[in-house]
Amino acid sequence: MRKPYSKEKLRTLRNDIPITPLISDILKIPSKVSEGYFRFLCPKCKEFNTAANPKTNLGRCFRCEINFNPIDIVMNDKHLNFIDAVDFLNRLYKI
Ligand SMILES: [Zn+2]
Repeated sequence: MRKPYSKEKLRTLRNDIPITPLISDILKIPSKVSEGYFRFLCPKCKEFNTAANPKTNLGRCFRCEINFNPIDIVMNDKHLNFIDAVDFLNRLYKI
């Protein structure tokens, strides 16, 4: 069986992959900047009632009232389970 990802590795993937370019450039989720905030189409409700916070590295949907870290956004956009989403980011960024 494959060795599970360490907590440290998961922390790095969540914190060190900038959420904004991941959403716009890698996943190509429709996004825009309005009122100074980076907004993206929520993969759950398909609305733009969202904002990304570079400080926390989270995308938030105000309608769904949920936060997306880089792993969460990949899981939701690509319909992957946790491990497959982590594999995806790990391959992509090799960190
Ligand atoms: Zn939503």
